Amino acid sequence: MASKHGLYVHLPFCETKCGYCDFYSVPLMDRPTSDLVSAAIVELKSRLNKGGSIRTVFVGGGTPTVLPIEDFRRFFKALGEGLQGHCLEEFTVEANPATVDAEKMGFMVDSGTDRVSMGAQSWHAGELATLERLHTAADIEPGVSIARAAGIRRINLDLIFGIPGQTEASWGESLRQTIDLGVDHISCYGLTYEPGTRMTAAKNAGRLMSCDEDFELGLYRQAIATLAEHGYEQYEISNFARKGQQSQHNLIYWRQEPYIGVGPSAAGYVEGLRYKNVADIGTYVRWMGERGEAMLDGERVTGADRAGEFLLMGLRLVEGVDLDRVSRSCGLDVLGVLAERIDRMADLGFVRLEGSNLSVTAAGREVADGVISELYSALDGRCEQTVSLPVLQVPRSGD
Ligand code: SF4
Repeated sequence: MASKHGLYVHLPFCETKCGYCDFYSVPLMDRPTSDLVSAAIVELKSRLNKGGSIRTVFVGGGTPTVLPIEDFRRFFKALGEGLQGHCLEEFTVEANPATVDAEKMGFMVDSGTDRVSMGAQSWHAGELATLERLHTAADIEPGVSIARAAGIRRINLDLIFGIPGQTEASWGESLRQTIDLGVDHISCYGLTYEPGTRMTAAKNAGRLMSCDEDFELGLYRQAIATLAEHGYEQYEISNFARKGQQSQHNLIYWRQEPYIGVGPSAAGYVEGLRYKNVADIGTYVRWMGERGEAMLDGERVTGADRAGEFLLMGLRLVEGVDLDRVSRSCGLDVLGVLAERIDRMADLGFVRLEGSNLSVTAAGREVADGVISELYSALDGRCEQTVSLPVLQVPRSGD
């Protein structure tokens, strides 16, 4: 049976760079985009020609919807043609509420797009300004309406909590306004201060005060309770969906199933090989022209390293991880290695072991980083390399 993959395409242009963002993306300004689009189409065709069937697609970045109309049309036409004959379960495109329009949405739908993920982040003007977002709260509802008018029914909105100056009231208002739009999926990410971003520099210089940890935990609990009240089931630390509306593409990452990455800085995991493309548009275009591929590095992840990836990603899911599957896949008695720590964490109420299925409890999710790294560190000394999360395609709040 042909293997089934996810497909991630990274289009690295944004209108402006948000203050908290460390994704590989550059402000569009008057940069030409056609060489990048041509190179991405070459990589797309080459990777699709290698066989296997695509079951989910996610086009992100960057903000795919900022591409000039001609390049936008050319890219989505090529993508739609390349995907003919594949049995798609889901096709998502990331969009910024300020940069969607009916014409681009029409091209997306023609190519097979059936889901849009938009970065709303907040409905509060001051919070959007702190994040240095391009859009205003007034853009969010029209953005969703444009997608719906084009025939897109499945919509995710991203929200961010822990923004300096945010209050329980303003967070509650952002949740309520998002719920009122009737979208089927909502992601709530805690603001993180990544190295090299403007917000991190402002925080380090004392120009910006981050939220108190307990206060931020309160906002997280508020989100879980509010969303549950309105029929959004939590299925991952930061993700909530109406019944049957989970992101099938992101589940591929969390469940450690294979996916292809196309575009600068995109990562992929195919037939045991994890790779990452170079994160530089000029080098990407040049390498695609000279070598027909843009892989910066590739490594076969096996044994304890692979087990570590299963834990880091899979324990984010409410469903947890089947340790028998991990053991079979890694050739390591993972349950044996973790037994003592699992017992300790279970006594604290942070994890649950049912048969061979290990999951993090609701209490454990509140301190998930600590719980997961405690289990992960049991593999220390058995790993040949440090598993670094940025190599993985980790879903978090972008566009
Ligand atoms: S958060 Fe999204 S829109 Fe903002 S710079 Fe990053 S990728 Fe671009």
